[in-house]
Amino acid sequence: MQHNLSRGPAKGGLRYSSTVTLDEVRALAMWMTWKCALVNVPYGGAKGGVRFDPKLYSTNEIQRVTRRYTSEIMPLIGPVQDIPAPDIGTDEQVMAWMMDTYSVGQGHTTLGVVTGKPVPLGGSHGRADATSLGVAHIALAAMKHRGMTPAATTAAVQGFGKVGRGAARFLADAGVRIVAVSDEYGAVHNPDGIPILELEEHVATAGRVARFTHAEDLPDRDDLLYLGVDVLIPAAVEGVLHAGNARRIVAKLIVEGANGPTTQTADEIFRENDQLVVPDILANAGGVLVSYFEWVQANQAYWWSRTDVESRLRDCMNAAWGRVVAHADKCQVSLRLAATSLAVETVATAHLMRGLYP
Ligand code: NAD
Repeated sequence: MQHNLSRGPAKGGLRYSSTVTLDEVRALAMWMTWKCALVNVPYGGAKGGVRFDPKLYSTNEIQRVTRRYTSEIMPLIGPVQDIPAPDIGTDEQVMAWMMDTYSVGQGHTTLGVVTGKPVPLGGSHGRADATSLGVAHIALAAMKHRGMTPAATTAAVQGFGKVGRGAARFLADAGVRIVAVSDEYGAVHNPDGIPILELEEHVATAGRVARFTHAEDLPDRDDLLYLGVDVLIPAAVEGVLHAGNARRIVAKLIVEGANGPTTQTADEIFRENDQLVVPDILANAGGVLVSYFEWVQANQAYWWSRTDVESRLRDCMNAAWGRVVAHADKCQVSLRLAATSLAVETVATAHLMRGLYP
């Protein structure tokens, strides 16, 4: 599904899930359009979905599904048309099969057709951590904006997957005290700070954050949300901050690592209470930025160092933060409204300037 092509080729993740629907794919494609426009990446939004649960199939079967799907959509995709990437249920191996299938069809290797490839096959350094590093940069910028210094700031991170664990680690490296972390099974708390590397090692063996030696288990997974922390980072699933719990949340700063964690009513409650919410399309745009860097590198057949990738990511995230804050100040609106309106305006301007070829 391609949502908009005004600013460049379409870009978005390919989802393998037993519940994926056309409406979901349509909405996610639109989300990608705004996210790309907001961080000045020259793409429109897209999304793909295949309705099956890859956990129930063998590697060979997943490879066959991937290759058949790729050959079916071959006329639509390409480095200047539509560039898929991993999403729920897909990974760098799926991207390698897609790239190979497309390349066989073209008669030559085309690395720029997908992003999220393995590093030895044209992937970019720094991509695996890009979303969480971007979340950390934005959280630090937002803290500065609110007059908070890392050393005097506490944070809780909901979700300890690809986004949450990196965000916790990068913020802890910056001096923020991460006092609580949760996953789908439970939550752990230590007011003196949780050692994140050790927690990652614990999760690698135990499969969950609970029963970690250096922290106490909280009675309920969602108790993490109501702790007296300065910063809350929802980095798990959508809709977790809602009318039923928003008034119990005391964090002064909420940085949306996940897509859509805050409902509209919760958003209004946070605004009433002067709690700053940094919207997902800004906070978690680091992943699509480094996907773009991967595409640039693949098309030039010239690869950058990790330091290069990370410094460009930092600069782009900070620039996007600056644009959103300036727009919010100018129009006296929330960061979410500022980010969305800036993104829509960017796409509309491109569309109008291109005009209509008769
Ligand atoms: P993931 O599957 O790697 O991790 C999700 C984590 O959340 C797991 O630790 C899981 O146990 C936990 N979790 C699930 N339900 C929970 C609940 N109710 N309470 C607490 N923890 C819960 O997923 P991810 O890639 O880290 O993605 C997380 C969110 O970030 C999603 O909304 C995703 O769309 C969004 N996102 C991810 C990326 C990326 O690059 N991975 C980019 C942009 C946005």
